[in-house]
Amino acid sequence: MDAFRIGPIRPPSEADSLLLQVTQGCTWNKCLFCTVYKDTKFKAFSADSIKRDIDAIAAYAEQVKQYRKGDLWDIQGLNHHLSTLVDDDERQCFYMVANWILKGGENVFLQDGNTTALSSGRLTDVLIYLKETFPQIKRITSYGRAENLSRHDADYFAELKDAGLDRIHSGYESGSDDVLLLIHKGATSQQEITAGKNIKAGGIELSIYFMPGIGGKGLTKENAEGTAHVINEVDPDFLRVRTAAIKPGTGMYDLYTSGTYELCSDDDKVREIRRVIELADGISTRIVSDHMVNLLQEVEGQMAEGDSECGAGSERQYLLDVIDGYLALPKDERRVFQLLRRTLRAFAPEDMANLSATEKAQLLEAVHRDSDADWDRKMNDYICRYI
Ligand code: SF4
Repeated sequence: MDAFRIGPIRPPSEADSLLLQVTQGCTWNKCLFCTVYKDTKFKAFSADSIKRDIDAIAAYAEQVKQYRKGDLWDIQGLNHHLSTLVDDDERQCFYMVANWILKGGENVFLQDGNTTALSSGRLTDVLIYLKETFPQIKRITSYGRAENLSRHDADYFAELKDAGLDRIHSGYESGSDDVLLLIHKGATSQQEITAGKNIKAGGIELSIYFMPGIGGKGLTKENAEGTAHVINEVDPDFLRVRTAAIKPGTGMYDLYTSGTYELCSDDDKVREIRRVIELADGISTRIVSDHMVNLLQEVEGQMAEGDSECGAGSERQYLLDVIDGYLALPKDERRVFQLLRRTLRAFAPEDMANLSATEKAQLLEAVHRDSDADWDRKMNDYICRYI
């Protein structure tokens, strides 16, 4: 059976979604921290070509559904079917569609880096065809660049919403113009605000990505305060934290090794998140920590006042308490937690209580030896493994 295209990345929240590639690569491809589409030339596929992929997905879905026995699935049969497929692309397609159908077949993510670069007519056409082919779909989401999104008014987004687009994920990274310039984001804070307001006014959910630490030590204050300003103006549905990782092979790494950029420590990054929450004013945004690169995974909740799911007090206070609890630890203990978290041995600082006295003493002794700069480099090396 013909394979369909599958792009390289999707947000973690779309892990069980069907991936439908409507563009390839990124229209910009110049952000200094990003290598995802480095060797990929941007291409917007024709509506006919995307519809052929939707038809191919429908054919895979029919194959998968043959393994449904009443309310149950014949998982052994599905696995056997998978094992008979010799072509890698075909296997990947069957696996994805099977996983999607078994999980309900409700969510779809449109790839790649800047889907909304497709003309609105083409995107609308594709969305309508997709929903007609799979009437059970409940949510369709996509990536979009702030600069590109800012060129469209609320009516444009309302039209996409009517056609079926429910959520846009956008990597704002920072709301500081100084930081945006430093990282070659190719967008301004004003474009972020215009894009965000129009998306929301058009009825589409907005998920913004924020990179604590991406401005380095030199712009840590600007990164937090600029981002808080944009968030307060836009009131996005989600603020997803993606802690900066300065990876070898990127322009940011070159800045770092040339000595013009100083890495933020984990503590600097945590303080940036705290500052953004502290400055959040009258918004309904939910901060989300859904990636391994983030140190404090528990920092998730409404940034404004409201009831906490975690006990008494507001969620905002809970978020601040989690951060303050970590920052109140002695420096060596913070380092021990950073190391345990980065090596997948702890989820929260409280997990350090599981260490034996000997283990803890050994770790405290080990983390004590590095200078601050060496330690920050070491922690950066660890998180680079996760992106
Ligand atoms: S806009 Fe996104 S995909 Fe494109 S280069 Fe920047 S980070 Fe990478």
